[in-house]
Amino acid sequence: MVSGGHPRAPGAAERSQVPELLSRPSGGRAASMPLLGRDGEPTLFELSSPGRRGWSFRETGVPEWAADELVPAEHLAAAAPALPEVSERDLVAHFSRLSSRNYSVDHGCYPLGSCTMKYNPKLCDAVAAMPGLASCHPAQPDQQVQGWLAMLADLERILCEVTGTAAATLQPAAGAQGELTGLLLMRAWHESRGRRPTKVLIPDSAHGTNPASVTMAGYEAVEVPSDSRGLVDLDALRRLVSDDVAGLMLTNPNTVGLFEVDIEAIAAAVHAADALLYYDGANLNAIVGVVRPGDMGFDIVHLNLHKTFATPHGGGGPGAGPVAVSERLAPFLPGPVPRPVPGEEGRYRWVMPEQSIGRIHGWHGNALVLARAYAYILAHGAEGLPEIARTAVLNARYLKERLRGTYDFPYDGPCMHEFVASSTPLKKTTGVRALDLAKRLIEEGFHPPTMYFPLIVDEALMVEPTETESPQTVEALAQALLAIAAEAAEDGGAAAAAAPRTTPVGRIDEAGAARKLRLTWTG
Ligand SMILES: *Cc1c(COP(=O)(O)O)cnc(C)c1O
Repeated sequence: MVSGGHPRAPGAAERSQVPELLSRPSGGRAASMPLLGRDGEPTLFELSSPGRRGWSFRETGVPEWAADELVPAEHLAAAAPALPEVSERDLVAHFSRLSSRNYSVDHGCYPLGSCTMKYNPKLCDAVAAMPGLASCHPAQPDQQVQGWLAMLADLERILCEVTGTAAATLQPAAGAQGELTGLLLMRAWHESRGRRPTKVLIPDSAHGTNPASVTMAGYEAVEVPSDSRGLVDLDALRRLVSDDVAGLMLTNPNTVGLFEVDIEAIAAAVHAADALLYYDGANLNAIVGVVRPGDMGFDIVHLNLHKTFATPHGGGGPGAGPVAVSERLAPFLPGPVPRPVPGEEGRYRWVMPEQSIGRIHGWHGNALVLARAYAYILAHGAEGLPEIARTAVLNARYLKERLRGTYDFPYDGPCMHEFVASSTPLKKTTGVRALDLAKRLIEEGFHPPTMYFPLIVDEALMVEPTETESPQTVEALAQALLAIAAEAAEDGGAAAAAAPRTTPVGRIDEAGAARKLRLTWTG
């Protein structure tokens, strides 16, 4: 495997300075003999053996003394870094083993409510990997990347058409960044009219990013209560709207999976106070191609391209959160935006909108995520997009009805693409909590639903099967959830409390893991 020269492989002298941790036994186990598959995957440090390597570079022909001159001595480390030394074979095996312990949308049903963990067609990855797209540098002059500009301009046109808006920025890297962008646009619009309202209204069922973005944008978040239907309490909203309110952030369908049927009255109440209506597009999957936020009265719309269209997400990225706006907000959009060159048909250039709030992301956003969304939209076409929404809703409604009688539905209106069940009855009779159910469901081969969100539902399980699952898969998920409840009634919750028993690790201290980060291997 090792061929070619041996540039800068640590020499014996350097190796002797590599901390002893690479050769020292760890946890009572000799580093050179990790017990694979017995008690978890060893770290690369434990797999390390001095002098072993999985790379080979050509000789550069640059003599060592010249290299030393090229890099000033003060920038050279005294010793080689204590990196693990492993062969390519061991490295690939290590990461392959780790990857097979994870669960992903490629493994199966992932009904994690609000996150829209649908299967992402491989076609979109193939398009994003095309050299004409992937090999461009964002600093290339406009005339060399006309295809990219045309594609981004067309994507903007489609997103505006889908949302019923006039113009968009493709820069934001995720929904949360889209929220901040939208709120900064809201602020710029009010300021351009000599106003400085200080509050933004958000429903009590809102996603956590909403109040966080409101605070980041310098506004005070004011909560609007939900009524007994699980919808915005219209009377309460009318009481809260005032001159000091910049806008209302809403997702429709909302976070309990219900369509805000009073949306026209909500929009009228907000607009009457000269405030703006912001659409959190994370739930667009339920209505894409069927109804448009712009037609409901929304002024600012963010989309989560990774949720509604096609980019595998989770684990923190990468995503894309374009923000589309009505005509009156277009001059404030972040830039530059791709626009046609006047008098030169089919040619584009980057243009800064007149009163732009400035850049919100380096270059042009996560461009290859944009390419995936474009491929996905073209592959589905105008007839395919509403089909996505209808199938997503059908799958959720089927699953919800199968669970009726066993699980509670605190807000029992007709659900859209997701629904929120409560396992309170099960907790009362068996002590089994939503968390236990979720862990037990892992043993049945499914990713758990979202738990304990939204906060207004006790023992919440937020289930979003998505449109990509077959009727057989949705039925299997229903049967698993019913069987777990029946089992708990029988064994008093013993199995659920012990779950998961089929995974490499069992229950972990999740709060502890998040709050006391230990990201460095210390032996
Ligand atoms: C996912 C989500 C967000 C945040 O979007 P990211 O792309 O994860 O930043 C905001 N609101 C709702 C309702 C969501 O589900």
